[in-house]
Amino acid sequence: MARYTEAKCKLCRREGTKLFLKGDRCYTDKCAYEKRPYPPGMAGRLRRKMSDYAIQLREKQKVRRMYGVLEGQFRMYYQRAEGMKGVAGHNLLFLLERRLDNVIYRLGYANSRDQARQLVRHGVFMLNGRRVNVPSMQVHEGDEIVVREESRKIPVINEAQEVIARRGCPEWLESDGANFKGVVKAMPTREDIQFPINEQLIVELYSK
Ligand code: SF4
Repeated sequence: MARYTEAKCKLCRREGTKLFLKGDRCYTDKCAYEKRPYPPGMAGRLRRKMSDYAIQLREKQKVRRMYGVLEGQFRMYYQRAEGMKGVAGHNLLFLLERRLDNVIYRLGYANSRDQARQLVRHGVFMLNGRRVNVPSMQVHEGDEIVVREESRKIPVINEAQEVIARRGCPEWLESDGANFKGVVKAMPTREDIQFPINEQLIVELYSK
């Protein structure tokens, strides 16, 4: 378990930013990136000048790891984003935000996207009255997500609810913790994604 923890924190240190992969721990002084804000390994503290390509690649990896998406899947999201109306970089972020696992995490029914993914796979949630188990499902405006009654005593769900009460839920979602329910009030906007992301770098990387 300790190795697993360290592996996730190493991703943050490698990407040079907090990716919030460990739930509440990420907001405390136990955060490994707060203690060691440099890449892991012997050469971690040496500052190297990065090429434009390396900067673009790191930005892509940062976002991909934050949302816990595999390489091929991430590229598919980008291709889909390119074919949509509007700005490709924004569309990419909207597609990632609208993933069911991300929404569960944002609503405070899991402490991390990883945990949300596991809970979804175990069939803990109902989407519009139907049991779902596909973490990558896209949510739509008006969708209603409910924790199934038999799963409401799962400790991680209750812990996550305590955390979200402190951290808050994004504007485009509404969390009704007392009834173990969440509603997608609107589609996310760029302003709803507060994490520092330069999506244009990802567009440049894939446009080569
Ligand atoms: Fe670990 Fe901090 Fe990254 Fe959370 S934000 S995964 S605690 S390094």
